[in-house]
Amino acid sequence: MYELTARQVNISDSFWSPRLTVNAEQAIFHQWKQLEVTHCIDNFRITAGEKDGFREGFFFADSDAYKWLDAASRIHALHADPELAFLMDSFVSLLARAQMPDGYIFTYNQIHFPNQRWVNLQVEHELYCHGHLIEAGVSHYEATGRRDLLDLCIKAANLLVHDFLDASNDKTCGHEEIEIALIRLYRVTGKEDYLELARQFVERRGRTPLYGIHWWFQRNNFIKRNAYVNQLRQDYLAKNPEHKSFHLPGDNYTRKPPFSKLRQRINTLYGFYAQQHAPIRRQITPVGHSVRFGYLETAIAMLCREKPDDSLLLAMEQAWERMVTRRMYITGGLGAAPEIEGFGKDFDLDPEYAYAETCASLASLFWNWEMALLTKKAQYSELFEWQLYNATNVGMGQNGATYLYNNPLAVHAGVTRKEWFACPCCPSNLSRTFADLGKYIYSFDENNLWIHQFISSETTVDMGVPVKIEIDSELPWNGKVSIHIKPEAQNEFKIHIRIPSWNSSNQSQTEMTAFGYDPRKANYETISRVWSPGGETLEFNLDASIKLCHSHPKVKGYIGKVAVTRGPLVYCLESVDNPNVDIFTVRLAPSSLRDEFVPDLLGGCVVVHGKTIDDKPLKFIPYFLWANRGASQMTVWVNISS
Ligand SMILES: [Zn+2]
Repeated sequence: MYELTARQVNISDSFWSPRLTVNAEQAIFHQWKQLEVTHCIDNFRITAGEKDGFREGFFFADSDAYKWLDAASRIHALHADPELAFLMDSFVSLLARAQMPDGYIFTYNQIHFPNQRWVNLQVEHELYCHGHLIEAGVSHYEATGRRDLLDLCIKAANLLVHDFLDASNDKTCGHEEIEIALIRLYRVTGKEDYLELARQFVERRGRTPLYGIHWWFQRNNFIKRNAYVNQLRQDYLAKNPEHKSFHLPGDNYTRKPPFSKLRQRINTLYGFYAQQHAPIRRQITPVGHSVRFGYLETAIAMLCREKPDDSLLLAMEQAWERMVTRRMYITGGLGAAPEIEGFGKDFDLDPEYAYAETCASLASLFWNWEMALLTKKAQYSELFEWQLYNATNVGMGQNGATYLYNNPLAVHAGVTRKEWFACPCCPSNLSRTFADLGKYIYSFDENNLWIHQFISSETTVDMGVPVKIEIDSELPWNGKVSIHIKPEAQNEFKIHIRIPSWNSSNQSQTEMTAFGYDPRKANYETISRVWSPGGETLEFNLDASIKLCHSHPKVKGYIGKVAVTRGPLVYCLESVDNPNVDIFTVRLAPSSLRDEFVPDLLGGCVVVHGKTIDDKPLKFIPYFLWANRGASQMTVWVNISS
């Protein structure tokens, strides 16, 4: 199965196009400004010897700058902008000056520990940072055709091949990412060593004997190195009292369950946290940090596309099934255990503890796309859609300059959109994914065309003859979709159109998902015929009516509650819309629900109106739109009259 690049697909969608414009014209510039204000870019200037100062940010802060460059490249490929090009060019040349002659680049060590490298792979994200650099280099090359950044990345990757190919099993990164990057670099360069190193990094996981002891030593080493850096900071401030470290306003509040510290320690020592508890073929349950898990699965799926491997595919399919049936929120959010930013036990899905980091849903999108291509099963594009509209889209505010990092499903207080975070991993990850949206709509081979997403767009694919495809979709607000197919000459092929799980034809009850949303109910409608060059239009009226979701009896805390969904969207009550009721205690009269498109609310959206059992009005908005009007309370789950 072949995929397209975002550049080959022209999106003209009344829902997504304005969002992508905000991404390209606001978000990406806002993010650069924040990287400058927080001294993330200065770290490279200090490394290059062009600026005095003290390094700021986490040890992995370089990755945020690289992810910005990745996003900027993908945006630039679609909307060339001279101001953005200038920022990219100057940052690329700065990177060339900061990189060491042998290809190494990691400002934390270069500034504080110039004679040390690869000493703390499990905690300090050194390979993770190199991974995001390499991904940026590949995106930059694909966007511009230029080799300057790509060559810099090849130099870094060659160093990794030299230092890590055929190394021992403890030589893996605690935070997966380098594996994806090396496979992408292999795909543009054809150099087998990169693919082989990615494969080795993946296969090494869970094979370090007594991993807990290894991790404990790494942790203590990290604490020692961190203390040394803090001492350096004190010394620097004593000599340079005018230097003020930048301090961000506090991050969002995360409500944590009891014994969090202990649970975190156990999870880490047993290796679950970083997917080091078992070799990958035995990893059939989603565990640990949910972003790391998603990146690992993405890399495994990418490897399977390069070289089929049934045992790996089976392990991934089992992990996916366990995730969607027992370890995922109704929004598609992943991560119920805030102390590890990751998965809890089966059906352990408290709405207020929900961490559901934006990056975790992004990682799941990457994985599900690879699985869709690998297996040709509709369930993966289905989950992609659900997570895109809900768990992912909620991450960026309407203005492109405010973000959510953790995404609980019930908020009493303490969670608002922020301009930036101490760990700003999500904003640029969102931007690079939004810029790539066109890539995820279609795929094809010689005899088949797949429509994965109903996003208004057009493209031309080569199926022996050029075939022009146009989608005209009213999603997510209405279910009307038309697909126009026009081959340049008469041609026979099959079209597979994903019929979503939320369409009424797919509403058979399943008992085994936590919240009633079951991506396994999606299927492809296949149309096989000779298509004529005059063009043909296929019409679909998907049922995007209001539905109520109930939880599985094993999920604690949801008895007597429902979630409102409509088409691919999950809805919520936000206190700003419901000033006269307590949204956490009201009882909804389910027969009262009706919908209305409100053009002047939050950019235009379908609102769901309802009534309480004592006839007070309730107003539900799409979950992804909450927190755009200042601090407020929110709940997805609402009590129902019995
Ligand atoms: Zn993140």
